[in-house]
Amino acid sequence: MLSTIIYRSRPGVSVNTLFLQNLVLHSRSKNERVNVTGILLYNGQHFFQVLEGSFDAVTAVFQRISKDVRHNHIVEIMRDYAPSRRFGSCGMQVFDLRDYPGEQILPALLQKSTINSLPGYDDRVLKFIKAFIAGRWHEHDVDSGTLLALSSCTEQVAFKTAITPEGQPCQFALQPIVDTVNRQICALEALIRGPDGGPPETYFATLSGAALYEADLHSKLYAFELAKKIQIGLTTLSVNLLPMSLITIPHAVTFLLEEIARCGLVPQQVIIEITESEFISGYDEFEKVIRQLKAAGLILAIDDFGAGYAGLSLLARFQPDRIKIDRAIISHVHKSEAKQAIIRAIIACCHSLEIDVIAEGVEEPEEWRWLDAVGIRYFQGFLFSRPKLNGVTTVRWPDTV
Ligand code: C2E
Ligand code: MN
Ligand code: MN
Repeated sequence: MLSTIIYRSRPGVSVNTLFLQNLVLHSRSKNERVNVTGILLYNGQHFFQVLEGSFDAVTAVFQRISKDVRHNHIVEIMRDYAPSRRFGSCGMQVFDLRDYPGEQILPALLQKSTINSLPGYDDRVLKFIKAFIAGRWHEHDVDSGTLLALSSCTEQVAFKTAITPEGQPCQFALQPIVDTVNRQICALEALIRGPDGGPPETYFATLSGAALYEADLHSKLYAFELAKKIQIGLTTLSVNLLPMSLITIPHAVTFLLEEIARCGLVPQQVIIEITESEFISGYDEFEKVIRQLKAAGLILAIDDFGAGYAGLSLLARFQPDRIKIDRAIISHVHKSEAKQAIIRAIIACCHSLEIDVIAEGVEEPEEWRWLDAVGIRYFQGFLFSRPKLNGVTTVRWPDTV
């Protein structure tokens, strides 16, 4: 099957005409052997390349380029399939956009193309080429920067560690949500663990139906007790709840409020994270519960945004105070145009609605750099701090210099 990959990159070395010619000569022979064709554009700042060929061949060529020191900050723009090649006749043709007066580049390029799009049908590859020629990427381009070291002097967290609780059906691990500009822990998320410290899936696998929802809701009292034991102070505590735990158990909100008060917390410091991992049946019932939560002063967050069943419709219907962008979208964001476009749109949308955005599952310094540059303030992930059973571990702060 004919496959297309488009990417952009920054030269990792200085570029002149001779360099470009050599680059293309060299890659042309390699590409010919595996029957990969396409074009390479350079605008003085970025490379933009279209690769066409069999799926395996373009994937292999792209992987080789990704490791090539002559390319930096590689961002995958498009990966798609097509009935025929757009640049079937030219091996690998190079265009230095600076050699052409603005309006002449596109006709020159089209002359080399075998694009046989039917009149009235737009070709996405051509649209990307036009956008690159028009310089539309300059304004958006975020420099994901060189690799940043994390602050070697880890700051000791002031929270106490609780002793392992006995006789409880479950326990909790805590993971900080951090504000890297102010170097502050802005919340702690309580993540359920089994009596032996095992992960949530193992714990929940032993339960089903009503018993699962009961266990989910009632486990929260141990999370609140843990917050008290570690002397959480004014820090915010985030807990996870299945929507059905709130919908199917009568007086669920009253239960939460009583336990919050009993542990010396106030509703305004407790975030309820609604996971989308389960289809919400009975939106009207859910709406009623959300109203109660908000009326009591609890903070509402949509968890795993972008990964579940109801992302945008949930957002339209129950405007939360926060959303947490799922790790699937955060992971390797600095390398994916699609992820970048989605995150920019989420930020714009949440900005209009005054909703705070948290990026979840940040593992790489480059991911954090990119997210920070587009305006995300709050982060959670192994890069900064891992969950710790019955306590909070140290936070590593990225160096911003
Ligand atoms: P979640 O609410 O999205 O929690 C974040 C999960 O991502 C946690 O896994 C955390 O350990 C993990 N994580 C955090 N940073 C990173 C990172 O940088 N990389 C990677 N790979 N993972 C990271 P955990 O503790 O296994 O929890 C998994 C899920 O279980 C939670 O996802 C949540 O949906 C659910 N869960 C946890 N506690 C509860 C609970 O009390 N009730 C309910 N209903 N669900 C819970
Ligand atoms: Mn969560
Ligand atoms: Mn999540």
